[in-house]
Amino acid sequence: MTTSSSGHCHGLITLAKPDNQAAGLGAQSYELYLQEFVHRLQQVLRGDDRLIKLAADKYCLLLREVEQRHHAELAVAKLSRHLSAPAEIVGERVFFDYTAALVLPDPRTAAKEMMQLAETALATALRTGRRAVVLDREQVRRMPRPDPGLLPRIESAIDQGEFLLYYQPKVDARYRTVAGAEGLVRWHDSKRKKVVGPGEFIATAEQSPLIVPLTETLLRNAVARCVNWAAPLSVAVNVPPVVLETGSVVGVVGDVLEFYGLQAERLVLEITERGELPANAIGHLHKLRELGVKIAIDDFGTGQCSLSYFRDLPADEVKIDQSFVAAMRDSAKDCSIIRGCIDLAHHCDMQVTAEGVEDEACADMLTQMGCNVLQGYLFGRPEVAEEFEQNHLSGLLAAAHEADHFSRLLRS
Ligand code: C2E
Ligand code: CA
Ligand code: CA
Repeated sequence: MTTSSSGHCHGLITLAKPDNQAAGLGAQSYELYLQEFVHRLQQVLRGDDRLIKLAADKYCLLLREVEQRHHAELAVAKLSRHLSAPAEIVGERVFFDYTAALVLPDPRTAAKEMMQLAETALATALRTGRRAVVLDREQVRRMPRPDPGLLPRIESAIDQGEFLLYYQPKVDARYRTVAGAEGLVRWHDSKRKKVVGPGEFIATAEQSPLIVPLTETLLRNAVARCVNWAAPLSVAVNVPPVVLETGSVVGVVGDVLEFYGLQAERLVLEITERGELPANAIGHLHKLRELGVKIAIDDFGTGQCSLSYFRDLPADEVKIDQSFVAAMRDSAKDCSIIRGCIDLAHHCDMQVTAEGVEDEACADMLTQMGCNVLQGYLFGRPEVAEEFEQNHLSGLLAAAHEADHFSRLLRS
């Protein structure tokens, strides 16, 4: 590639292999499928744009006069239009499971570096389960690089059981009673002798296959803990989209619910909203929901494609991101956005949780807007299991004993 291409928007697009069995594709049909993919990509191109084959299932797109973000987003929309209809391959309907990354042109950046940036952007899109990303040079450069030294330490910490869930209460907005808890991971690092927050290791874990065993361990711990709670509170666990894609989580959830005998509806899986989820991740979500577990869309409002989430995701709960809640008091616009989200969620039969509730005034406003559940420092910080149980469940325990005592009296 020549340096003159540095003024172009650099795109990389890669196509996942369809599940041969489901799609009934043999080697020859796969060839036809790839040809159809290239044909559709060509329809997206304009005059001086270029399509460069890097591998049978990976192409570079050089888009001219795509300089602004909204131009690139239009190109992504055009890609989506051309690739969303299924292909007819020897009588079978097959969908294109593609991932694309576009990096906006930058006058300081040579073509070679643009390609490296596009590779990093594509790796991020694949890792985070996004269909397409549009990034500029600085955004790509700021992306967390995997820290190779950290990964082996995370691996041995999983084996040593050093990752613990802290629990933060989720409170019924109208009655102000504890309705459940979210499990938030902390690393009790025995080497460094300190408790490390998720900000220091989750992004790195998510860039490696280790996020799968880590999430599965936390899921088991959460279920094992909450099955002993006096009241049938829900417990929420964070499940990154990349874990959802692998599908092994479906078996783990089924097994762990059966092993501990927990009612499935008490387990909530919080899925971070980060752009479009790949089709197989949505399929796994459906399977999880068939088991009876609840699905929550986490950090709602911070990702992309929010409206398509409402349409496509089998979810029971929407969690409004704390940035909207924090801005709510001083911004009428943020208030309107929250009110709109609550109405939309309710129309789609989902309940709404507001995150980051730090004061009474905010809690009252959210309750008046119809928000169902509140979570934030106003009601409690994340605490180790024993403290959470002591601070938030002992009252419930006493009430449960009292009710039990009362019903015994009535029976005697
Ligand atoms: P999140 O899922 O949105 O979790 C909420 C974060 O907001 C938590 O930070 C919580 O401590 C914090 N928070 C709760 N109430 C308030 C409040 O009133 N004010 C403010 N300012 N903050 C509040 P934390 O525990 O540091 O977790 C940060 C993020 O790390 C989480 O965001 C989640 O994305 C990720 N994370 C945490 N635990 C896990 C986990 O077990 N697995 C995975 N994959 N990610 C996790
Ligand atoms: Ca969460
Ligand atoms: Ca959240």
